[in-house]
Order: sequence, then C-alpha cells, then structure tokens
Amino acid sequence: MLEANTPSAQIERQSDKDFEAKESTVLEARIPSGPIEQQWDKCRFDMKLVNPANRRKHSIIVVGAGLAGAAAAATLGQQGYHVHCFSYHDTPRRAHSIAAQGGINAAKNYRNDGDSIFRLFKDTVKGGDYRAREANVYRLAQISLNIIDQCVAQGVPFAREYGGLLDNRSFGGVQVSRTFYARGQTGQQLLLGAYQALEEQVAAGTVTMHIRSELLDVVIVNGRARGIVTRDLVTGDIECHAADVVVLATGGYSNVFYLSTNAKASNCTAIWRAHRRGALFGNPCFTQIHPTCIPLSSEHQSKLTLMSESLRNDGRVWVPKKRVKRALQTISRKTSATTIWRTATRSFGNLVPRDVASRNAKEVCDEGRGVGPHGQGVYLDFADAIHRLGLETVREKYGNLFEIYQRITDEDAYTVPMRIYPAPHYTMGGLWVDYHLMSTIPGLFVGGEANFSDHGANRLGASALMQGLADGYFVLPYTVPDYIASTKLDPVDVSHPEFTSAEAEVKDRIKKLVGINGKRSPDSFHKELGKIMWDNCGMARSDAGLRKALARIPELRDEFWHNLRDRRRRR
Ligand SMILES: Cc1cc2nc3c(=O)[nH]c(=O)nc-3n(C[C@H](O)[C@H](O)[C@H](O)COP(=O)(O)OP(=O)(O)OC[C@H]3O[C@@H](n4cnc5c(N)ncnc54)[C@H](O)[C@@H]3O)c2cc1C
Repeated sequence: MLEANTPSAQIERQSDKDFEAKESTVLEARIPSGPIEQQWDKCRFDMKLVNPANRRKHSIIVVGAGLAGAAAAATLGQQGYHVHCFSYHDTPRRAHSIAAQGGINAAKNYRNDGDSIFRLFKDTVKGGDYRAREANVYRLAQISLNIIDQCVAQGVPFAREYGGLLDNRSFGGVQVSRTFYARGQTGQQLLLGAYQALEEQVAAGTVTMHIRSELLDVVIVNGRARGIVTRDLVTGDIECHAADVVVLATGGYSNVFYLSTNAKASNCTAIWRAHRRGALFGNPCFTQIHPTCIPLSSEHQSKLTLMSESLRNDGRVWVPKKRVKRALQTISRKTSATTIWRTATRSFGNLVPRDVASRNAKEVCDEGRGVGPHGQGVYLDFADAIHRLGLETVREKYGNLFEIYQRITDEDAYTVPMRIYPAPHYTMGGLWVDYHLMSTIPGLFVGGEANFSDHGANRLGASALMQGLADGYFVLPYTVPDYIASTKLDPVDVSHPEFTSAEAEVKDRIKKLVGINGKRSPDSFHKELGKIMWDNCGMARSDAGLRKALARIPELRDEFWHNLRDRRRRR
C-alpha cells in the first residue's frame, strides 16, 4: 500500500476518484450517417474549416514524432498552424517506427489479383475478429491509396519490379499481394519521408521541435486538453506548454511484457498519464504476438528482435516430428520433420494469420519439439527457396534480414535454418477515440499505435504503418481544424492554476520516486512484471492465470513504492 499521506499517495487516490467518475462516460463514436463508402467524404464536407489567415492564431501540441506524429505535425504546420512537436528521442528519426521492416498495405491492386478497397476493408475487419469499428476501417482502406501516392511523391524508395513498377508482396492472413515495401526497412524509409516533410515545416517556422522532452502529464482546463507538462531530459527542468489542442502520437505499450520487439525507450507514459486524467482506454487486452522473432538466448536479454514476416513468403517452417534432446542445438534437415501450421489451408498456405502461426509454434514447443538451446524455437528454412530461386534472388529479397540474424545469432541462415519464436510486438489497444480520433477528453486527439486502432483485434501485418500515416497525413489534418473551428477556445497560458497544480503534482511524483531509497532496481520490477504478463496474459490465457496476475501485480506495485532503488545509487 502507498503510505497514507505522501503527496504521491494523494495524487494516485485523487486520480482513482477522477477515473471512477469518468467510468460512467457515454461513448459517442460520431460515425457519419449514410452508406459506408460515402461516410468519410460526407464527414469532410460537413466539417468546418479555418480561414488560412486565422490558422496562425492557433497552436497545436503534437507529442510524438514517429510516423503518426511527424505526419500530423508536418501537415498541420503546412496548413499554417503553430505546431509544437515533442519527442523524448534526440531526433524524430529515432522514433520506433524506424524499426518496421515488412511493409505497408494499400488496395492499389497493381497485381490485378482481385484486390479492392472493399477486400482490404473485409480482410481487416475479419482479421480484427469483427470487433473493429467498420466506418474507420473503410476509411483506412480508402486512404491507403493516397498514402502510397504521398510517399512516392516524397521519394520513398519502395521496391520496384524490373520494369520500374512498384512491387508488392504478401503478408499473413491475406490472399492478395498488397504490401508495399522497401527491402526490410520500410518503416525507416517511410519515417525519412515524414521527417523531411517535418523538417521543411521547421525551416518554414510553422513547426517547433522539442527533442529530448518527455511528456509527464496532460493539463485539462475547463474539461478540455489545453497543454502538457514535460521534463527536459538533458537538464531535468520541468516545463509547462499551453495550446488549443493536444495530439498524442506516442506509440504502443508492448514493453509491458519486458521482452518485446519494441525499443527499450518505447514506454506508455503519455497515454497512461492521459488515462489517469480521464481519457478512457479501449481494447487493452489485444496485443499482437508476432510469429517470426529471434528466440531468447539468455536470461539477461532485455529485448527481442523481429525477423520480418515477409520471410514466410519463401521460408518453410518446421520442427522435428519427435521430441528433441535439449543438448541438440541444430537438427539435421534429414530429420523426420513436420510443417507446423496445423490450421493451414490451401487458401493461406504458409501465410496463416499471425495469431494462428504464433499459437502453432508455441504448441509444438510446449510438446517438447522446439529447437535451439532453450527449446523455444521452430525452424524457418530457406533450403527449398534457395534451390528453387537461387541464392542471389533470396539474397536480393531478404539480404538485410539474413544479416541481422547473422549478427545476433552468429549463424548463417543461407546454410542452416533460422530459428524463430513468437514475441509481443504491437498493441492494438490504446486510448479510445471517436471517428474524429478524439479521446474522451475534448481537445485531446490520439493517432497511430497510441490509439485503440481502427483495426481492433487485428491479426494481420502491414496495417500499423498504414494506420499511422492515414491518421497523420489524412485524418487529423481535417478533424483537428474542425475542432478548432467549432469550439469556443478561451485564451489560456501556463500561468493558469491548472498548469501550476499539474506541475506541482509532477514534481511531487518525481520527488517520491527518487526518495524511496529501496533495494530493487527499476529494471528488476519491469522484468518481473513482464514475466507475469507473458505467463498469464500473453499468448495463452486462462481464468486461473488471469486471476493469478491480478493478485500478483498489486503486490508488485506495493513493493515498487517501498523498495525502488534510485538508479543513480549504485550498490
Ligand atoms: C520491430 C517492429 C517491426 C514492425 N514492422 C511493421 C511492418 O512491417 N508493418 C507495419 O504496418 N507495422 C509494423 N510495426 C508496427 C509499426 O512500426 C508501429 O505500430 C508504428 O510505427 C508506430 O508508429 P507511431 O508513430 O504510432 O509510434 P512510434 O513510431 O513508436 O513513435 C512514438 C513517438 O512518440 C514519442 N514519445 C513517446 N512517448 C513520449 C513521451 N512520454 N514524451 C515525449 N515523446 C514521447 C517518441 O519519441 C516517438 O517520437 C512494427 C513494429 C515493430 C516493433
């Protein structure tokens, strides 16, 4: 338990009260009326516009400079608003979007293989277990066409066929080729495109970048989001920033599992603080477990590395038919083997959806047929592909992925099969937003992985980049101005009492954290929490497991508040 009268205890209790009060909020999704194909056009027509000469009178805070944040900040800046963009990274180019390898979906039907906006919509709704908000998904499928045009115009070097046309590949759970890619670095190339658009606006003076600035709280004035409290990560200074609108594009929370494919820096402080201020969460239980990651090699590992799912286009996934002796690290290809996708069908072959692929891998490893030092792995074997296509073709398609694998495992996947195992990768849950991407706090918009995702329980790949860029380039630049045009926004600056009290709360919380003077490192708490989450709320979940986690997590939190060691004090 928190001590009764510490400032932090009071803050947490007050937040709990606020939170309970908000639980009775009636959610209004603001889906436009009419046929689904026309809803976005109708909505855009109905939305209010701000006169170009008036735009410079309004300021917008965008927190996050990944694909969603950089795209939104650049586009709103280009429209003429004063944008302040915050990132805790030392440059927008370090946002975690840079890690995306495989590709981005768009219903261009360049392959003439039966794709259409409706098929992308249907696949995404089905892949989302029929839980997604259909109006949003339809809009996403429509906008997917514009995203590719936008990125090509920016010079994003998508892979091209010999004749110069944009190439496509397939991803799990899908029967057409609609994934645009730039080798195994799609996120990096898309982010460089968004970054150059952002820098153009920085040079034009419409966007001010605040790097190495971490959001620690959201400030609400008269029920509307009007600013943020940040900490300068170099000087430690706590600062307040006021604006007419706040946009959060701060990424996902897979790191709650400790071992995930997300960078260590990816945390969910921003959406969590917004949640404590009353923004509701949606679908927090939906996390995507990616089937093709490099297996854990040591207990001291702090993250896992993804190998793009595109490898499943050509790699064969297999395990030995019989249980494996743990001492054997590499099993001969002559071993009696079985392909593991038990639910594979002629329609999907090796490209079953991610959840099916991940569960199948876990099941065979649980049966004792897993390969590698810890028995937590299945083979992804390119022997047949190399034989069929030739080494050079395989190298051309996947060379950088093979290199990543070689550097991490010291194994050459051209000669021995890769080992893969599922890992937490992407969070579909996040802050609930309406059709306009506004949270339950008026004036607080949320884009990209930080929101609860148009695609709900999506089991498909290449959707997150699509959604981040759709939100940033094409949705928020309409809905944020509509909010500004239709809302009476009183002048507010950082001398307002709400800013003063939010800043004081942040300072109290930091003081409490550094004053606990305990014995356990922050990382050891994180690691234990991650293990509880993975064992009980990961790929396999049961009533008993969830109850166990629900009992253990509060105990761990209590211990955290009593036994946290200040990182600066080495023992
Ligand atoms: C290894 C990997 C591979 C992937 N491959 C694909 C793929 O092939 N196709 C696909 O569609 N999706 C893929 N994804 C998912 C996709 O990359 C992400 O969902 C997407 O890039 C998230 O973009 P974002 O802009 O929402 O957030 P991010 O790129 O995570 O950016 C978050 C931004 O917010 C800032 N920030 C966060 N918190 C704070 C704070 N408190 N204060 C200040 N700033 C803050 C960060 O500095 C950063 O600028 C992959 C994900 C991973 C991990």
